[in-house]
Amino acid sequence: RHSGDSSFKGIRLIEDSKISAEKRAELYLRPKIDLATAKSRAEPIIAEVRQDGDAALARLAKRFDKAELSQDDLVIDVASAPWPKVEPKVAKSLDAAYENVRRFHAAQKKPTLCVETMPGVECRRIAVPIEAVGLYVPGGTAVLPSTAYMLAAPAKLAGCKEIVLATPPRADGSICPEVIYAAKRAGATKILKAGGAQAIAAMAFGTKSCPKVHKITGPGNQYVTAAKMMLQADDEAAVSIDMPAGPSEQLCIFDVTSDPSFVVADLLSQAEHGPDSQVVGVFVSPSGETQSYLSRLREEFEQQTSKLSRRDITKQALSKSFVIVVNSLDAAMSFSNGYGPEHLVVQTADPEAYLEKVVNAGSVFMGAFAPESCGDYASGTNHCLPTSGYARQFGGVSTDTYLKYVTVQKLTPAGLKRVGPHVEVIADVEELEAHRNAVTIRLAKIGRELSW
Ligand code: NAD
Repeated sequence: RHSGDSSFKGIRLIEDSKISAEKRAELYLRPKIDLATAKSRAEPIIAEVRQDGDAALARLAKRFDKAELSQDDLVIDVASAPWPKVEPKVAKSLDAAYENVRRFHAAQKKPTLCVETMPGVECRRIAVPIEAVGLYVPGGTAVLPSTAYMLAAPAKLAGCKEIVLATPPRADGSICPEVIYAAKRAGATKILKAGGAQAIAAMAFGTKSCPKVHKITGPGNQYVTAAKMMLQADDEAAVSIDMPAGPSEQLCIFDVTSDPSFVVADLLSQAEHGPDSQVVGVFVSPSGETQSYLSRLREEFEQQTSKLSRRDITKQALSKSFVIVVNSLDAAMSFSNGYGPEHLVVQTADPEAYLEKVVNAGSVFMGAFAPESCGDYASGTNHCLPTSGYARQFGGVSTDTYLKYVTVQKLTPAGLKRVGPHVEVIADVEELEAHRNAVTIRLAKIGRELSW
């Protein structure tokens, strides 16, 4: 048996029963991101865009993305743009993935709620799309057409009129054709050729060529996250955001019945995202016998990592990652809920038993044949999910993300006679005379019920 906190060829091995509550709380913390520095870098960028609009965007595209863009070439009108040239096999897969995402998100729309709380007192809740939304599709180090349809499909289904998708331009000033294809397929209205804090600021304030939006969604690097957090607190921008986003992460629960090559493949699929990504393996071993399985796992880590083209990034992520050995399903779920992973993969024989105990997780992948990559791209669920423990209070992007709920009420005279006297009493308690009077004046005309 391994003890305490020992080295596991690049990934730490920890035994749950041997650690203190403090150590466990430490393990729940993600690799630290210096958001204060990112905010201090984003601040002047936001100010520059607020002041100079499109001219600032053109300057910043040159500075950060090495792209020469004129001010009238910052925005693509998606509907009138031609379909970009994309390899047929890629178009076919993007279409299939988009269709699954569309189907799952279309089914999320709820019928209008209507409840008669008292006879004659009718309350409704209607879903109204946010008119203009901004979607950020990262593009600094990788092209992400999947993020384009993950964000745009639910916005379109919700009924948003203006769907602005911002993504960094390439050095020649163009946008990757697969991203344009996905944006067009999913129904984005405009593509803003801007990345980082400047893209968020342009959508929050609006510029001559970029419409102002009311909500901004989507992942991005620390400058994007810093700008989203700063602008949602800015009176002038009056914009909301989906959630703060940090580096990707996965927690995978497995036991001796799990195929070690599947476990490692899943953990590595997250670790390759970036040096700040974190993966956590939770090994459920009621017998405490771990050695032989863990040595197979170690071999898999070595073999699979060495073949990855992004092995250097992956190794950096693994150095911030760990495997924890627990003795029961309850202990595994207690750890997982404390951590609140963005992605929770359960590769045991009885994943439903684990699902029952999920409290904090962004998206759950059940059993041996549901690799996280399927949810990342094509099964239908959304891949924009809460990271850094925000799964404790946020769910991922969904059709609801782009809707707001408006409540409605309609009262008949009989309804007012029933509820009005209660309103009068409570208004008296709060000493709000005009509130009470709005009821009293009506009841004086229509009469009161003798008992209520
Ligand atoms: P990005 O598009 O987020 O950022 C690129 C932009 O950052 C550039 O256009 C530039 O404007 C700005 N920038 C770069 N250096 C800067 C500096 N020194 N000062 C100010 N601004 C600067 O792309 P990225 O950098 O590749 O980051 C993508 C991030 O998105 C990664 O962290 C990745 O893990 C994350 N991501 C998350 C999900 C998810 O669903 N959680 C999905 C995809 C990507």
